[in-house]
Amino acid sequence: MTLSTPTPETLRKLAEAAGPGGALVHGSDDLSRYLVEWRGLYEGTSPMVLRPLDAASLAQIVRIANETGTGLVPQGGNTGLVGGQIPDVSGTQVVVSLERMNAVRAIDPLNNTITVDAGCTLQAVQDAATAEDRLFPLSLASEGSCQIGGVLSTNAGGTAVLRYGSMRDLVLGIEAVLPNGEIWNGLSGLRKDNTGYDLTSLLSGAEGTLGIITGAVLKLFPSPKATETTFAALRDTEAAVDLLAQLQDASGGLVTTFEIISRRGLEFVLRHFEDATDPLEAVSDWYVLAELSTGTKGWLRDVLETCLGQAMESGLVTDAVLAESGSQREALWSLRENMSAAQKLEGASIKHDVSVPVSSVPTFLEDATSAVIGAMPGVRPVPFGHIGDGNIHFNLSQPPEMEPQVFLDRWQEMNDIVHGVVASLDGSISAEHGIGVLKREELTRYKSRVELDAMRAIKQSLDPKGIMNPGKLV
Ligand SMILES: Cc1cc2nc3c(=O)[nH]c(=O)nc-3n(C[C@H](O)[C@H](O)[C@H](O)COP(=O)(O)OP(=O)(O)OC[C@H]3O[C@@H](n4cnc5c(N)ncnc54)[C@H](O)[C@@H]3O)c2cc1C
Repeated sequence: MTLSTPTPETLRKLAEAAGPGGALVHGSDDLSRYLVEWRGLYEGTSPMVLRPLDAASLAQIVRIANETGTGLVPQGGNTGLVGGQIPDVSGTQVVVSLERMNAVRAIDPLNNTITVDAGCTLQAVQDAATAEDRLFPLSLASEGSCQIGGVLSTNAGGTAVLRYGSMRDLVLGIEAVLPNGEIWNGLSGLRKDNTGYDLTSLLSGAEGTLGIITGAVLKLFPSPKATETTFAALRDTEAAVDLLAQLQDASGGLVTTFEIISRRGLEFVLRHFEDATDPLEAVSDWYVLAELSTGTKGWLRDVLETCLGQAMESGLVTDAVLAESGSQREALWSLRENMSAAQKLEGASIKHDVSVPVSSVPTFLEDATSAVIGAMPGVRPVPFGHIGDGNIHFNLSQPPEMEPQVFLDRWQEMNDIVHGVVASLDGSISAEHGIGVLKREELTRYKSRVELDAMRAIKQSLDPKGIMNPGKLV
């Protein structure tokens, strides 16, 4: 795979294909927001940023790139956390932003589907669904900026995966420009279609390496009319897994959110956020924030109260509070949502976005915690997140007396320790955020040769010149 530096003539043709106002160039435009990731961790260069208005214009861009061997970097809202949306520093890769393709094309409340351009923000899709009394359930803290093409390409998760699945589960059809410049119209709203390889699933989670998504048909759900939220103190992590099973059994699978929070994480939030208050008198090493929802009011609260009462009798739960109002619900949620921000204020952190089978989470937490403390006495593990999906953000805060850079210099060592525990439990080193450039090398250590060969064969056959997001994923 040898890519070329685009010549002035190639750049002229690409700009022409992008249409009026579709090409941003150095000198006359500020390209920085497309070339730097929001935390400043990844920064690259690009001779121009292309912003096509429709799939036909994008297809023309891709044909030119294919003929000239020019690398393209698809970009949505630039909120990705593994560097996949940022070009490298060679200055040869051209960023393609989908931001001007942002229309809601159609909504079908009876088929429970919405058809959108890839550049629609996640929030715009949620709002369009709400306007029709429907729910689009994917929810992330970045939802005001991230785009449907981006959340599809990273198979994004968030806090409602337990009930509704991640993005790959929420898409029925995709329209994309393939690396040869052809438009594949797979905008099907069918829930049953067994006609061969599932290209929609293949492009979901492909991180822009197999084509550029231009549109999608997404699933909608009934809008919940009753939501019950609890914050509960637990005996231990095994109690969390048991409580989840009991809540699911009692409610018939209506648990939408089930998030674990450690005492240390809660204390970080209480210390750094003035408005935050500890909702419980009992002090525990572990808590869960759980939410259930349904379409009819009244009975769900009884189910939750009965279940929590039984869990307290059996000792799984030591204390619990139920949200009595919208503002109390928000206060409980803010304890979870401010976890990352509070951790930032405690100094440097080393992060892991891992998953194991739900039943193995207690073993993972115990083994990973003792392993990192054994290697670095004083390190402060702050695990939190989507225990209902087996997905833990196993974050480490620096020992208070250690220099931040000395701590960060041991990032790889800590990764190796934690990922070793994950591998021993048949888990994944990237549950939510993808591979990008951050975990590309590590992927080769944790996937089998057979699987990596199959992935490379798919890439080679669809994109033999390697123009689609070069240097990412495989
Ligand atoms: C505050 C915050 C909270 C977050 N919380 C979560 C969370 O809970 N769960 C989670 O999973 N993620 C989370 N993320 C990560 C991020 O928001 C998601 O990965 C999101 O899916 C990225 O969407 P984007 O439009 O910003 O994509 P970008 O960052 O622009 O791109 C991400 C990847 O997708 C590719 N891509 C983008 N658009 C297209 C397209 N149209 N066609 C083909 N490839 C494309 C890019 O090349 C890149 O590889 C969070 C991020 C932030 C900043």
